[in-house]
Amino acid sequence: MSDEFRSSKAINLQSKWDELTEGLQIYEPATSVDTITGEWRTQTPVFLEKDCKQCLLCVPACPDSAIPVKNQKRLDFDYDHCKGCGICVKVCPFHAIEMEGVE
Ligand code: SF4
Ligand code: SF4
Repeated sequence: MSDEFRSSKAINLQSKWDELTEGLQIYEPATSVDTITGEWRTQTPVFLEKDCKQCLLCVPACPDSAIPVKNQKRLDFDYDHCKGCGICVKVCPFHAIEMEGVE
């Protein structure tokens, strides 16, 4: 996405109704990294590193690829893109992930 397009289409609290982009329109491919969808999250997974066995079962289960891996070890969550779905909590066999924000 070009800087010109990004600045001309950025939505903020002062945006007027006719400046909003229409829903579900994507103007260029490969924009998912740039789009901070983690802002939608209402519940937040917390990584309990001391309990993690590095089995990596949680990594492919995340629909948002929000669990980074480096040198064959998972790192803390990518909160810019985690939407708080909780799948990783259910998948982890070692209870190394807890959800915050759940009553
Ligand atoms: S809560 Fe959902 S989106 Fe967030 S890291 Fe876990 S599986 Fe991925
Ligand atoms: S599933 Fe649990 S134990 Fe396995 S890597 Fe993920 S957080 Fe660690």
